[in-house]
Amino acid sequence: MPAFEYAPAPESTAIVDVAPSYGLFIDGAWAEPAEGGTLKTVNPGTEEVLSEVSVAGPADVDRAVAAARRAQRTVWGPMPGRERAKYLYRIARILQERSRELAVLESLDNGKPIRESRDVDLPLVAAHFFYYAGWADKLPYAGFGPDPRPLGVAGQVIPWNFPLLMLAWKIAPALACGNTVVLKPAETTPLTALFFADVCVQAELPPGVVNILTGAGETGRLVVAHEDVDKVAFTGSTEVGKEIARTVAGTRKRLTLELGGKAANIVYDDAALDQAVEGVVNGIFFNQGHVCCAGSRLLVQESVAEEFLDRLKRRMGTLRVGDPLDKNTDVGAVNSAAQLGRIQELAAAGEAEGAHRWSPPCELPDRGFWFPPTIFTEVAQSHRIAREEIFGPVLSVLTFRTPDEAVTKANNTPYGLSAGVWTEKASRMLWTAQRLRAGVIWSNTFNKFDPASPFGGFKESGFGREGGRHGLEAYLDVAH
Ligand code: NAD
Ligand code: MG
Repeated sequence: MPAFEYAPAPESTAIVDVAPSYGLFIDGAWAEPAEGGTLKTVNPGTEEVLSEVSVAGPADVDRAVAAARRAQRTVWGPMPGRERAKYLYRIARILQERSRELAVLESLDNGKPIRESRDVDLPLVAAHFFYYAGWADKLPYAGFGPDPRPLGVAGQVIPWNFPLLMLAWKIAPALACGNTVVLKPAETTPLTALFFADVCVQAELPPGVVNILTGAGETGRLVVAHEDVDKVAFTGSTEVGKEIARTVAGTRKRLTLELGGKAANIVYDDAALDQAVEGVVNGIFFNQGHVCCAGSRLLVQESVAEEFLDRLKRRMGTLRVGDPLDKNTDVGAVNSAAQLGRIQELAAAGEAEGAHRWSPPCELPDRGFWFPPTIFTEVAQSHRIAREEIFGPVLSVLTFRTPDEAVTKANNTPYGLSAGVWTEKASRMLWTAQRLRAGVIWSNTFNKFDPASPFGGFKESGFGREGGRHGLEAYLDVAH
């Protein structure tokens, strides 16, 4: 195979002006935290500190929730939907105008390739606001009765893998339905949420409608437990999701949880193999595998397994790992030292349990947090790498002989967020999809997202749906 050398093609960071420190965004203004306390956010590609953000404590959460309550009662709740829609459209347009700046910032703070933040995250972020702007004046026609009411104040906690996109998934439907929000971004990726606060100011959103509180798990805990929050929305680990479910149990709060996954990508022997290779690569190496719906288990039919793995390995050899800001990069930096540690620990467990580990030759930068694209073969269903979410660029390969066996193995997981089915036959695709216990099933493609399409899990992947008309339900007081 010819090896192409690529000249460096770095995206300039001059478009982003990161301040050395940030306060909290409460009631439409920047505020210092009542008790002080800061945390540093780093660029995971270089380990260099980007900025210091505030840690919100109990008094700050009180102030933010009170501001959100006031804004919901006096301004945002009573406002006609067609007027709320104008704000959402305005936010969407500003996000488009500032998309290059926000994409660069996202790659700096998160480590994801600029190609992804520029071509996937930011377009989807704007699309989400456009989509829910369209619903704001049509709620009586959404199928939830003639006069669906907002819930009130939403407390929202999001993870670090798609920082601005998860913010959009949380804030756009909440606002469209007339709720106000207190949102806590993840501690390793707070910057795009803070820039979003500036977008809200630019859009002249009434004060208190959106409040952004930075901090770590303890701040999230305070937001979730606050007694004047009506609705809790969380995306993150199953472990924290369970804790939140316990906190909210017995209160009148409404809850949606979007948790982890261990999706199966099923490749039948009649599939277009090169196309399936692309889908499997996208399924597990997109965003360094930091994707809750990642296709982290490959189930390939035994008769084509050898050939498929040959082609997959050849394709993996062409993935470029390195500087997230380089426009040619396919796989960027792992988000944090802690996440790298988790991936390393699970990969070591894979070897210890007897699976066979393989990565293409690949030079990793000296500084920063890196893990090469990796596959494990000879994986048994009992292995930890077949059961636990690795949340990194690591694929566990299993084989099957019959469709029944494929379905049984695919469903043999506590999770149920997504799945992929690769086959030429529509009948086989539908037969398989009907039997898979997963919220989203892609066929002959993977990781396709659209604001009009609902997303969410079965079993330990959580409950509730985000996106589409279904996504409105989580933010409306609908009698069942
Ligand atoms: P996490 O669940 O600990 O963090 C997600 C968010 O929850 C962050 O904003 C965090 O500050 C907050 N949080 C932490 N503890 C909290 C608490 N007790 N109450 C309220 N909020 C709290 O995720 P992590 O530790 O960053 O990652 C651990 C694992 O979780 C990963 O390895 C991966 O398997 C999984 N994960 C899944 C997703 C997803 O999209 N489903 C996203 C991130 C991580
Ligand atoms: Mg960071």
